Amino acid sequence: MEWAYLPEEELWEQPWVARVLTGPYSDKERLLFLMIVSFGPEGCRMTNTEIGEEFGSTNNVVRRAINNLQSGGELTITGNKGRSRRMYPARAPGISQAQKMKGRGVRVKKRCGTCGEWKNQSEFYRNVSKNDGLAGACKACSIKATIKSRKSRVMREKINK
Ligand SMILES: [Zn+2]
Repeated sequence: MEWAYLPEEELWEQPWVARVLTGPYSDKERLLFLMIVSFGPEGCRMTNTEIGEEFGSTNNVVRRAINNLQSGGELTITGNKGRSRRMYPARAPGISQAQKMKGRGVRVKKRCGTCGEWKNQSEFYRNVSKNDGLAGACKACSIKATIKSRKSRVMREKINK
């Protein structure tokens, strides 16, 4: 199964995710990485300002976190600053092919029940109990909800190990 469609717990077990969760990174860097992963093989297009708003961080903190992840070999970044930049988890399987496709892979959009944005299907986790087989909330919203919920304890434990 393509990693973009793995349920989040399974995704966090993947070696290329686990190495970031247990590696020499700050909590913010780990959360940033998980967020970038949540965008799937098409990559994360968020600007530093948008990421900063998401995490309550300044642009400098975001820039430093991205630099640390990139120099650790966890991120591949294409394009220039701002909108045209895309960030990918560098060690995810098949990511170089995804980059070659420049995001032309998945076109069918679905509306997130939480943030209301239309997003590609790869930006939703699988949920076999739903009619379309996808979760109602997008991955970014699911991750936010997970971080807030008691499930986040599991992740915090992993991070603190
Ligand atoms: Zn959403």
